[in-house]
Amino acid sequence: MASDGMVAGPLGDLDPEEFRRHGHEVVDWIAGFLAAPERYPVLARVKPGDVRGALPASAPDGPEPLDRVLADFERVILPGITHWNHPGFFAYFAISGSAPGILGELLCAALNVNAMLWRTSPAATELEDVVLDWLRKLLGLPAGFRGVIYDTASISTLCALAAAREAAGLEVRERGMAGRPDIPRLRVYTSEQAHSSVEKGAIVLGLGREGVRKIPTDAEFRMDPAALARAITEDRAAGWRPIAVCATVGTTGTTSVDPVPAIADIAAREGLWLHVDAAYGGVAAILPERREVLAGCDRADSIVVNPHKWLFTPVDCSALFCRRSDVLKRAFTLVPSFLQTPEGTAVENYMDWGPQLGRRFRALKLWMVLRAFGRSGIEARLSEHMRLGRLFAEWVDGDPDWERIAPVPFSTVVFRLRPRVWASDDPRLHALNERLLEGVNASGEAFLSHVVLGGRYALRLAIGNIRTEERHVRRAWEILRAEALRLGALPVTVAGG
Ligand code: PLP
Repeated sequence: MASDGMVAGPLGDLDPEEFRRHGHEVVDWIAGFLAAPERYPVLARVKPGDVRGALPASAPDGPEPLDRVLADFERVILPGITHWNHPGFFAYFAISGSAPGILGELLCAALNVNAMLWRTSPAATELEDVVLDWLRKLLGLPAGFRGVIYDTASISTLCALAAAREAAGLEVRERGMAGRPDIPRLRVYTSEQAHSSVEKGAIVLGLGREGVRKIPTDAEFRMDPAALARAITEDRAAGWRPIAVCATVGTTGTTSVDPVPAIADIAAREGLWLHVDAAYGGVAAILPERREVLAGCDRADSIVVNPHKWLFTPVDCSALFCRRSDVLKRAFTLVPSFLQTPEGTAVENYMDWGPQLGRRFRALKLWMVLRAFGRSGIEARLSEHMRLGRLFAEWVDGDPDWERIAPVPFSTVVFRLRPRVWASDDPRLHALNERLLEGVNASGEAFLSHVVLGGRYALRLAIGNIRTEERHVRRAWEILRAEALRLGALPVTVAGG
């Protein structure tokens, strides 16, 4: 990207013509990058401290030409990037900065809107309203749900739990919780496979980690509703005050789907707020044939779906849909006089929906993604990812030296290397699979992550990047088998065949 350039003047911004030149260069670089992200290793190869060591300890005294900064971006920063936009990224949950989403981010930065009040950008507020209503309809959720965009699912869940605490009628908003003998200890229920964000939310809200009771799961890693009902009864008898249940549609480890209809029955009977963490799996409901993944969620009080996970929208973008948005707003609305506006209650001010005042204009990129791909384009991409997941699962199932550890409801496969002559409880399996993962990730062509399930160490291959094609998944399988052979874990004739 380097060419000679002027430095910024003593006042004001960069010269507009300089901006235009660099802007074109940067967009050209992005276009080249998106055309072939494989030219970089997917997992960064730097050692701890390499990037820091290549950077000066202090900011420059005077202006530097942007050409030099962009050259350093390529020289110093890029080698330290793990490429989430690489088609061989299969770790955690694979995500996508799609082209329309990237353009949305660019415009968002140019406008630099703070979407805190309606009047601080009416279009930002109204687009957020509209685009989340589009998403609600795509997901098949009923009209009673109103949406808000936060940065992450962790914050969506935190806000949902704050609403649950508000709904419990304990006046915590005004009086706090500490030093109040009139408040029993509060309890939230979630499965032992739930994401750690539920516990983190409980920490922030003063419930503490002990305020989260983890409900056991069945053989397919789904919350056991009978165990949930028993836990609530036990807790009430012991003096706890249950306030919420958090079910998961697409757990982090195995993407299991909790039985939300049965959990919704219990929540209704017990008068508990039902929050559904569908951060990853929820978008599958856009496919008419997969609507059932959100079965029972029409009865939830809140549900989070992350467009920045499997809906091709650049990080960050998390949508919380709430059926009781009045309660959510009651938990957070606090308007100092300088933020009062003449529009009053005639408009929505999204600062009232959470703890933050300043808010990015995230709806813009989501709008651009939904329009640029359309329902049909999104459906095609999601179903292709699920087909690739099933294909990989078939390869694992068809090979006696590999073992699948969980069902594949979406596009993530959990599996491990178990040489056919090794018992399934062989203690060496843990280290073998750890070394296998390290070897595969060192290839630069594929990046997978791991999960420990009931003491078993397993690998996860999560398909979700918009650029991942069958050839990338096939290549990952080849690399896995070659690495297993290199580790001496397979007979040569088997792995080479
Ligand atoms: N919920 C589930 C099921 C997840 O898998 C994750 C992250 O992977 C989260 C919540 C947290 O997401 P975020 O990074 O948006 O906070």
